[in-house]
Amino acid sequence: NHLADYLKQRIRTVPDWPIAGVNFRDVTTLFNDPEAFRVMIEAFSLDCTRLAVDVIAAIDARGFIIGGALAYQLHKPFALVRKKGKLPYRTVSEDYTLEYGSATIEINEDACAAGQRVLLVDDLIATGGTLLAAAKLFQKIGAEVAGVAAIIDLPELGGSAKLRDAKLPVHALCAFS
Ligand code: IMP
Repeated sequence: NHLADYLKQRIRTVPDWPIAGVNFRDVTTLFNDPEAFRVMIEAFSLDCTRLAVDVIAAIDARGFIIGGALAYQLHKPFALVRKKGKLPYRTVSEDYTLEYGSATIEINEDACAAGQRVLLVDDLIATGGTLLAAAKLFQKIGAEVAGVAAIIDLPELGGSAKLRDAKLPVHALCAFS
């Protein structure tokens, strides 16, 4: 697909980062390219309209750049999913496991209203653990997770399949194997 190829050509791959053997997919090169950034936001906008989304939520930190632009473009509320301890108001939190160890993410308890349809946005889906935990947070406050959107999917890590198994529609703009 043309869009996927266009974006993949503009994503930088950094070998052996953060550890030997990992090819890190660096999307800062897309954020740095105004035309590619617009193409990406336009593609996500179409998904939002199709999914009848009320609220855009994004994952700390690269997700914020995409989610913020998308919320502005669509004139929708924006909600932050942050690492534990960053939000000053009352929060709900969710622990999840990483490849090594665990992490906790939080949202404000009033991040959105019960019944609202939320789109979760991040740069990349690896194991899917982060987005699955984020989905649980919004479900805890009574929201409906309309879908999950990312620039990149790494399908071999099984994250997008896991999210779909959890009944979350997944839309990634491109994939790397
Ligand atoms: P997951 O929870 O295993 O799906 O990991 C996804 C999270 O790790 C996202 O928040 C990504 O920003 C980050 N991540 C993992 N690998 C990469 C990569 O190659 N490029 C950019 N972000 C990555």
